[in-house]
Order: sequence, then C-alpha cells, then structure tokens
Amino acid sequence: MSLADLIQAEIKKPGTKCGIEAVYEQLDETDAATLHEVMASKVAHVVIYRALAKQGIEIGRSVVERHRKRECACVTL
Ligand SMILES: [Zn+2]
Repeated sequence: MSLADLIQAEIKKPGTKCGIEAVYEQLDETDAATLHEVMASKVAHVVIYRALAKQGIEIGRSVVERHRKRECACVTL
C-alpha cells in the first residue's frame, strides 16, 4: 500500500472511538451539552480533564487532547 492509500484509509477510519464517548454516556443532557461546548472552545485540555476528574470521571488527560484534535474515530466532539 502506498502512503497515499494509507493516509486515505486513516481519514476514512481514524483509529477507534476513545473514552470520551463513554464520558458523554455518563453525563446528563445539560452536562453533555456543556462538555460539547467546552470541547469546541479554546479552553485548555487540562481544565476539562480536571473538571471531569472532580466529577469523578476518570479519563486520561491525553484522551481529552486526542479527542479534541479529532485523532480518534468519534463522530461528535
Ligand atoms: Zn474521541
């Protein structure tokens, strides 16, 4: 496979869905809407990570970052 083919394959299916998807499932509608909003904002990754941790949601800091950079297969931000 050429590099171009491999890049196209990655664009079509960029890895797997990350832990953020499960986080959204744990949140109520209001909190999920807030998280969507903040994920799309310029708020630092660590702020989101710490706030989630305080809510008892354990998710890696790097997961938050990868998800926001859309390096996972999640459809929603
Ligand atoms: Zn994701």
